[in-house]
This record gives sequence, structure tokens and C-alpha cells, in this order.
Amino acid sequence: MKLTYNCTIPNTFGLPVHAACLLEYDSAAELRALLVDGRFSAELPLPLLHIGSGSNLLFTGDFPGTVLHSRIGGIEEMPFHDEKQAVVRVGSGVVWDQFCLWAAQQGYWGPENLAAIPGEVGAAAVQNIGAYGREVKDIVECVECLDLQELTMVTIPGSDCGYGYRESRFKNEWKGRYVVIAVQFRLRKDEWTELDYGHVRQALIARYGGDIGLSPMEVRQVIVDIRAGKLPSPTEIGSAGSFFRNPFILPEQYARIAAIAEKDGLGPVPHFMNEDGTVKVPAAWLIEKCGWKGYRDGNAGVYEKQPLVLINATGRATPDEIVALKDKIIDSVRTRFGVLLRPEVEII
Ligand SMILES: Cc1cc2nc3c(=O)[nH]c(=O)nc-3n(C[C@H](O)[C@H](O)[C@H](O)COP(=O)(O)OP(=O)(O)OC[C@H]3O[C@@H](n4cnc5c(N)ncnc54)[C@H](O)[C@@H]3O)c2cc1C
Repeated sequence: MKLTYNCTIPNTFGLPVHAACLLEYDSAAELRALLVDGRFSAELPLPLLHIGSGSNLLFTGDFPGTVLHSRIGGIEEMPFHDEKQAVVRVGSGVVWDQFCLWAAQQGYWGPENLAAIPGEVGAAAVQNIGAYGREVKDIVECVECLDLQELTMVTIPGSDCGYGYRESRFKNEWKGRYVVIAVQFRLRKDEWTELDYGHVRQALIARYGGDIGLSPMEVRQVIVDIRAGKLPSPTEIGSAGSFFRNPFILPEQYARIAAIAEKDGLGPVPHFMNEDGTVKVPAAWLIEKCGWKGYRDGNAGVYEKQPLVLINATGRATPDEIVALKDKIIDSVRTRFGVLLRPEVEII
């Protein structure tokens, strides 16, 4: 366990924000004991906030309470005898991409399209991370949690987590109740690919040729390369990845946007029909057509290769600068296209 007072909060935006206290724990039993021990818990500044590596968070200022962080490691195959599947238990503090790499090295299919997403395993199950046509919900068997209300351990099946596009019950009605301790993933030993999203298939063919037997490692490598060309590495440019969600709009709203695009010569509007009849329009397209791509405002900016990503352009941005830029982008997209963008990043 490590307890630090008045320290910088880890966050991939690289913002200079501080917590009154940072509590890093190494097991569920240790965290539970700390919270149950009235003498100790009385010393912890409140409120409590659990974070992973801070790669989907925007702190608008210092945090007055205690930031909790899991250092629980371990990747362990569960006894499960099936020729085609494996169940693997992973500690919540494991770096997500270390698990993806491990799985690919074993020849296990499942997380390869989610390679190189920043963050830790606990948060991946909270966020329902997704990329290139796959979401973590596709492989979550169950989530082991410490219930902060009852101070007991619970195991929640993936099917009960309310997973949707970047959504889960952990982010909504269960917010603040459960601390993820470990996640069990169901992985496949036989080939299970999702290659028809973006340019994954073309990139695979360009790199390995068309008629080879694929391995998860090869798919992983192509995904890592595609991402490196599109997204800023948090070690070089501060960001929280895609700042806004892709909006799901009604067909009549889509028709209005298409009419604006035609009148203003913006070209065809990219869109995807959802099963519920709504239309998904890429937020990146809306933001780019409002002229924000590559924009700089003081120390804050919009990434020149991907307008969905707000950046700490100089490394000296303040929370206020990022918040002001976010507000300007929301206003302009609403004014021009009548669509209200919602942040994907959690604002604290
Ligand atoms: C460059 C870049 C690219 C990205 N690309 C993608 C992408 O392709 N797809 C995608 O989905 N996301 C992407 N993201 C967003 C981010 O990587 C994910 O949301 C990730 O899961 C956040 O992990 P984290 O450990 O940093 O969690 P944090 O950002 O620290 O926390 C996220 C949420 O999880 C909660 N939480 C964290 N750990 C626990 C725990 N143990 N128990 C309970 N709650 C917990 C926090 O309270 C918070 O609500 C990207 C981010 C960056 C910076």
C-alpha cells in the first residue's frame, strides 16, 4: 500500500492537478481493511474517487478528497477445459495493452483489435472500451468487485453489466459503488477475427499478403501501427483520446445535416444506420467541418490528424483552457448542424 498526500493526479492530458490524498492498494483485502478500519478511514479526505491511469479523465481543478488506485497485478488462466476457449483472470491494475500482448503471444483471440488502448484492465471493464469493430463486452466473462456499500466481494457476470457503446452500469446507476478488483475474460483458441472495420483488412493484406493463416499477433501489430499513425501517444502529446462520443441522431436530423452539407459543398456525410433506426454520424466529421482540425488556442488544441482528440498542445495547458476549447467546439457544432456533442471523457 502507498499513501501520498498533496500529490499530482496521474492523467494523460498532463494537466497540473493535485489530490489531497492518493491511496494505492495491492489487494482487495488490503483496500477493504483500510476502509473498514475506522481510525484509518477517518483520516482519509473525502470524497473517494477511483482512477486507473487517468486516460479518460479531464480534471477541471484539484481534487479535495482521496484518489484510489489499484496496483493489483496478475494474469492467470482459470481451470477451464475447452479445446476452443480459455478463461483468463486479470488484475485490475494490469496495463490493458500488457494483457492484449500476453493474449496474442498465447495465440488467443479476442482483445487483438483493442490493442494499444491506454489505461488499465479495471477501467476497461467500466468503460466498455472499443475499437475497430470490437468492444471489451465481447470478451468479458465476469467482473470481480469490492462493493463499497456492503464491503463484500461480488462477481458480476458480463451479461449483467449493462454494456453499450462506451457505457456500463458501473458508469451509471452503480457509479462509485463497485471497485473492480479483477476481470475474467473468455478468449478463443480458434480464429475469431473482426477485420471489416476501417482499413484493417487492407492493412493486413498490405503487410502480410492475402492468403496466409492469420495469427492474433499479426492482427495486433497492424492495429498498433494504424493507431500510431492516427492518435497521439500520451507520452508525447497530452490528451484523453476521443473527447466526444459519436452522436446517434434521428433520420430527420441526419437529413438536415445532409442538406447543409450539399448546400455548403461539404461532400457526402459519413453515417451508419443503427438497428434502432437512429443514425450514427462521426463526431470527427462534424468537428472537422466546423473548421477545428489542427486548431490551436493558447496551450490547448485539436489534434491535426484526428479532430476528435483535444490536446495539451504545449504541455503547459491548464484545465480551464481545455474546458474553454471543449465548450467552443460544442457550441459551433450545435450552431452549424443542430447536434449536441456529448463528451466521452469524464469531466471531474
Ligand atoms: C490516446 C488515447 C487513445 C484512446 N483510444 C481509445 C479507444 O480506441 N477506445 C476506447 O474505448 N477508449 C480509448 N481511450 C480512452 C481510455 O483509454 C479508456 O477509457 C480507458 O479504459 C481508460 O483507462 P484508465 O485506466 O486510464 O481509466 P481512467 O481514465 O483513470 O478511469 C476511467 C473510469 O474508470 C473508473 N475506474 C478506473 N479504474 C477502476 C476500478 N478499478 N474500479 C472501478 N472503477 C474504475 C474511473 O472512476 C473512471 O470512471 C483512449 C485514450 C487515449 C489517451
